[in-house]
Amino acid sequence: MPNRPTLHAIEPGICYIDNVKKLNAAYRSGKTQSLDWRKTQLLALKRMLEDNQAALLDALKQDLGKCETEAMVAEQGFLLSDIDHTLKHLDQWVKPRKVSTPMVAWPGKSYKQPESLGTVLIIGAWNYPLQLLLAPYIAALAAGNCAVLKPSELSAETSALIAKLIPQYMDVSCVEVIEGGKEESTALLACKWDHIFYTGGEAVGKVVMSAAARHLTPVTLELGGKSPCFVDKNTNLKVTARRIVWGKWMNAGQTCVAPDYIIVEKGFEQPLIEALRKELKKQYGKSALASPDYGNIINQRHLSRLRSYLDNANVVYGGDFNEERPAMEPTLVLEPSLDSAIMQEEIFGPILPVITVPSLDDGINLVNERAKPLALYAFSDNDEVLDRIISLTSSGSVCTNDTMLFMTNPELPFGGVGNSGMGSYHGRAGFDTFSHLKTVMKRSFALDVPFRYAPFSKFKLKL
Ligand code: NAD
Repeated sequence: MPNRPTLHAIEPGICYIDNVKKLNAAYRSGKTQSLDWRKTQLLALKRMLEDNQAALLDALKQDLGKCETEAMVAEQGFLLSDIDHTLKHLDQWVKPRKVSTPMVAWPGKSYKQPESLGTVLIIGAWNYPLQLLLAPYIAALAAGNCAVLKPSELSAETSALIAKLIPQYMDVSCVEVIEGGKEESTALLACKWDHIFYTGGEAVGKVVMSAAARHLTPVTLELGGKSPCFVDKNTNLKVTARRIVWGKWMNAGQTCVAPDYIIVEKGFEQPLIEALRKELKKQYGKSALASPDYGNIINQRHLSRLRSYLDNANVVYGGDFNEERPAMEPTLVLEPSLDSAIMQEEIFGPILPVITVPSLDDGINLVNERAKPLALYAFSDNDEVLDRIISLTSSGSVCTNDTMLFMTNPELPFGGVGNSGMGSYHGRAGFDTFSHLKTVMKRSFALDVPFRYAPFSKFKLKL
């Protein structure tokens, strides 16, 4: 049963207005403005993640068959270093950001003062259910906000565990976890928030944005899309294949920034496929379905969706699946039609299409004819090739000669562009997302030059 703390039912649906009122009252009390309170809360969250490591890894295993190392690095470990980074820089981030003042306003000074927003709603997705819910929460806390956290119902074990742990460690007057799916999200979105931070698919992103528009609430949308991966024939093939396998098949391909498809010049596809095959066997053994390091598909519905992509496809590696687990082998598909579902929809699973193009520029055109991706990867020994791809395409992020590793740098804002999302977070970008940069100009009474005041004589106009 979903945990719905202090629910107040108004027929015919759920209403969360009292929950929001409670958090708003705590916010207005001013307690979240204290830097000490924010740091204490961040440390409490850190303790929660450390004390309950075993239970969290177990929940992630149950939800997604995540192996421990992956869960420690990409979920728990990610959050711990995010908290450490935030604690290290918070004193600096909260400071006024001075800017120059034009002569006309002398004597005076100008600055941008970060101020918290109020009560925010954070809606998480199921693929990294811990990281994607708590990383925005870390940023919201650091910036001094109250928050409602809504985990994804699809990762039910992690959702239930977070709902149990948060009240044990955090200041419950300033945070609530509300579990549930569409019905609960709809009721939450009907409330007035000071910011909504949503991670998930594009279709629901539109629902979130139109609900927010009713209250003129700003949104951050962390969405997905098809992230292309260029492989130039002049590349270190072995390392290229190893890094593509790492980025694509972590979490069985259910990663928003996983390479979605490969673009390679005609004639180089076979060496690349051979290198990928070799590397897949090295990392996951002859049968990945038997590997303890290889994850599950979140549910049967998503497995069926993925299997349907293979109808009439030229499968050159893998393709096998396990209905019960559910799970699907790492799968390579050569040259699917660009009009087919696998090349029109985000795959979000362990299938990797390889598309050949006559030249690099054809690959660039192919990417530019489609919606702007969340991430873009390019492998080459040639810096000119890499720079050409970077400068002629648009995406949320680019990473060359690797996949996904850019996510580990808290100095790099993470977010999409166009259909892959709006706004960003991680590190200071997250703090800024959950802050308003209030502009302040402080003037003194000295030098009150009369020229700007009426009446405007001809003499004044001449000056
Ligand atoms: P999901 O099904 O977990 O949905 C995301 C959230 O939206 C959940 O909390 C869910 O309860 C809620 N939701 C579902 N239907 C809703 C509705 N009608 N109204 C309001 N809320 C609703 O996640 P998903 O959409 O399957 O996630 C996969 C997508 O998310 C992919 O496109 C992926 O690329 C993207 N994603 C993006 C990021 C990122 O950081 N940019 C991270 C992970 C996933």
